[in-house]
Amino acid sequence: MDEQALRDLVTLWQNRLGLDHWEVVVKFAEPELDGRTCVMKVDRSHYYDHATITVHPAAIGKGELPASIERDILDQASDHTAFYERTIVHELLHCCLRDLMEAGELVGDQLHRDVRAVWDEAWRRAEEATVERLAKALILLPKGV
Ligand SMILES: [Zn+2]
Repeated sequence: MDEQALRDLVTLWQNRLGLDHWEVVVKFAEPELDGRTCVMKVDRSHYYDHATITVHPAAIGKGELPASIERDILDQASDHTAFYERTIVHELLHCCLRDLMEAGELVGDQLHRDVRAVWDEAWRRAEEATVERLAKALILLPKGV
């Protein structure tokens, strides 16, 4: 997949998910989550309809992913393009859940710190599982415009 094809997928899914009014910036760099290189990540604004998706350059054929990630991709999808499209949907779904997650943060702010740690972990896990479940389902839908 070349850079334009990836950007087109972001725009396509941004529109499908009702995020057409969002400013979504795509940048190519080595994204890290919890100190580990990953394929893609999103940083969304807490308040504004703005997000930056950081995409590993390997997605557009520049550079190489760590071997462990490469194997993981091949285990999950028959081709890389399908994997990257699902990952784009995943990252954009994080934007769709922004207001819900922010509401959860407000609730968390009211909790004792011991309970807060449990709440934060459970809340993040629930978001991640929901986003991944929805991304897998949405990507299987017929490709209408
Ligand atoms: Zn995620």
